[in-house]
Amino acid sequence: MTQYPSLHMIIDGERVMGGGRRTFDVVNPVTGGTLAELPLADPADLDRALEVAQRGFAIWRRSTPQERAAVLQGAARLMLERADDMARIATMEQGKPFAEAKIELMMNVGLFNFYAGEVFRNYGRELVRPVGQRSVVRYEPVGPVAAFAPWNFPLGNPGRKLGAPIAAGCSVILKSAEEAPASALGVLQCLLDAGLPKEVAQAVFGVPDEVSRHLLGSPVIRKLSFTGSTVIGKHLAKLASDNMIRTTMELGGHGPVLVFDDVDVDHVLATAAPGKTRNAGQVCVSPTRFIVQENVYERFRDGMAARLAATRVGDGLDPAAQMGPMANPRRPDAMEAFVADALAKGARLDTGGERIGNQGYFFQPTVLSEVPLDAMVMNEEPFGPMALVNPYATEAEMIAEANRLPYGLAAYSWTNDVQRQRRLAAEIEAGMVGINSHMIGGADAPFGGVQWSGHGSEDGPEGVKACMVVKAVHEG
Ligand code: NAD
Repeated sequence: MTQYPSLHMIIDGERVMGGGRRTFDVVNPVTGGTLAELPLADPADLDRALEVAQRGFAIWRRSTPQERAAVLQGAARLMLERADDMARIATMEQGKPFAEAKIELMMNVGLFNFYAGEVFRNYGRELVRPVGQRSVVRYEPVGPVAAFAPWNFPLGNPGRKLGAPIAAGCSVILKSAEEAPASALGVLQCLLDAGLPKEVAQAVFGVPDEVSRHLLGSPVIRKLSFTGSTVIGKHLAKLASDNMIRTTMELGGHGPVLVFDDVDVDHVLATAAPGKTRNAGQVCVSPTRFIVQENVYERFRDGMAARLAATRVGDGLDPAAQMGPMANPRRPDAMEAFVADALAKGARLDTGGERIGNQGYFFQPTVLSEVPLDAMVMNEEPFGPMALVNPYATEAEMIAEANRLPYGLAAYSWTNDVQRQRRLAAEIEAGMVGINSHMIGGADAPFGGVQWSGHGSEDGPEGVKACMVVKAVHEG
């Protein structure tokens, strides 16, 4: 039986805890009860982590690709060995079903193995020059990275935040979400146990605003990688600009899903409905605004409501549960506010709309339809198990609705018309477009958004390049 572990920070390879530090209660979202106390960094801890990160960069920028690959592959192997324990701990602190947590861990395994190969493909280029002269373009690691990861993918987000800098030859200070810290510590421990020098990657926790101001205010940090809300992303981008720190920003989305009337509605629902309830909708690429052509609108809306109503919601450690609780008390509060506002503005409630039970943070999978565009939920990311279904007549109207918001992370479309598929791929403003698929990620594919959904990519060769700077060397 997996026990929830005691918590610490990892600075210079040491487990840091106690010592009169402030603490944060990590809570089980099934019960609301405390799992463990997390120590929070004070300014001296952060200064120490910065000094160590500077040394770590001096070590790791000189590492060979073979050394980087061995660490990444070794960590991937250890994650596989520890998969059941790590996934259970992720479920305990974040709430998602165990099977989802395990898939998340397997994505880390795939990503680390992909990066282990990518370290050998750091190709620059040689420019054409007269005989006797040489000019080359080379890529070098950017420097110590400050990485802030949220709670929705407690294993996957730290995996991305650690894997890319390590592949690139950087050092990294990770501040993962205080609400799900044990999973992040587990991923870092696999890297350290696989032989990563202790100076190269560290984990701190703290009061988020204190930590980000402290780290981004230091000349040591050369790159910020943030995943979280657009509001905080904009705030951090401003802080980063004071020191000209490069940024990768993976922010919020409001996933449009265009469903045309030439599709098999049941086939679309078979992936769209579980796609919506995955991680209780707390996914930046969650399908959210269902933009449905009139002829299939009612069938789609009713089918979505029936499927979401039938979702088995429960403790993520119960194998029967298809959806767990929401991760923290802020989410069901937000869901209630979205529903009340939408109904007051004239939307229709097709299923759900309420909390479940009186302990923990459970919320019913919810379908709202005919939702006016001025409803809050049509403009702000719900980040919950909430499908918004509205009817439209033409392709042009559907594309206009997909592009209405300033977000541009993931978008999906369902149509069997090949010409239309190509038009949609070109016209929809998003970093990732799924055509007849809700699967839009992959270790080898760039993951990221445009406009208010952020900039830069994680995963793929682009994820490693995002931790590098370019240099042109001209030899006379
Ligand atoms: P939030 O905006 O306060 O926090 C989001 C994340 O950013 C958390 O992990 C938090 O620890 C971190 N954070 C907050 N302030 C920070 C700071 N000053 N410096 C560094 N990190 C900071 O909101 P929340 O209640 O945790 O989540 C609500 C919203 O955040 C959601 O509605 C969703 O839009 C967004 N979110 C997005 C993602 C994503 O994958 N893009 C993940 C989690 C949350």
